[in-house]
Amino acid sequence: MNAKLLLQRTQHADVISVAPIKGAIVPHQDSIYSANLRRHYEELSRFPDGFLAYGDALCSFNPVYGQGMTVACIEALILGECLAAGAQGLAQRFFRKTSALIDIPWQIAVGSDLQHPRVQGPRAAQGRFINWYISKLFRAAQQDDVLAARFLEVANLTRQPQALLEPRIALRVWKGNRRPIGATATPPCISSGSRTASGLTDRVGAWPIGLL
Ligand SMILES: Cc1cc2nc3c(=O)[nH]c(=O)nc-3n(C[C@H](O)[C@H](O)[C@H](O)COP(=O)(O)OP(=O)(O)OC[C@H]3O[C@@H](n4cnc5c(N)ncnc54)[C@H](O)[C@@H]3O)c2cc1C
Repeated sequence: MNAKLLLQRTQHADVISVAPIKGAIVPHQDSIYSANLRRHYEELSRFPDGFLAYGDALCSFNPVYGQGMTVACIEALILGECLAAGAQGLAQRFFRKTSALIDIPWQIAVGSDLQHPRVQGPRAAQGRFINWYISKLFRAAQQDDVLAARFLEVANLTRQPQALLEPRIALRVWKGNRRPIGATATPPCISSGSRTASGLTDRVGAWPIGLL
């Protein structure tokens, strides 16, 4: 699609059409941001007093997973806790705690990216199993709002990834894959609002996410 057609089709076309374009339009996929990058400051034996690395400077994620701001906010809470305990060894304490925080979203982003054949890196059996399981979960979630909601909770970092493997969730995944697509397991409304299970999973299904 050319840029003009794209502008006509976006909600913000009016704003964009009068805004001066400062440079070439760069597709997001080609930008530096589509890579995951993690720096292990916690492994340094020394770090200068009065300085900290924070947010994307610690770890930046492929933005399609929408994790960076959530992680940065939790890091702010961790920094608050670390500051409350004094300035002594602040950076080391902060890096140690944030490293544990980053482990999960890092595994989500990297594990998912490894599903794509062009991504280089070792593909461990565990990761392959998880990605296979997630593909089954996506299929079942098209008809099951409990699964769809559970997936979004994990993707939005409000639950641990293990919550997707709980026996009752695994059972729903198994049952959902035995049903032909189109057969409904649960009523389609997630809440009293207008978001239906299938509307939710349409978005989920298009999202290339995996775990661990
Ligand atoms: C396209 C895209 C989409 C994203 N979508 C999501 C999403 O949906 N959900 C989500 O959670 N995360 C998303 N992210 C990730 C999120 O934006 C980042 O993880 C988050 O903004 C990181 O916060 P930060 O404070 O580390 O860095 P930033 O928000 O980048 O802030 C760094 C600031 O430092 C300033 N700066 C840089 N160099 C200098 C300098 N030399 N002197 C002074 N100032 C300087 C910059 O101008 C900037 O204001 C997305 C990222 C991208 C690129």
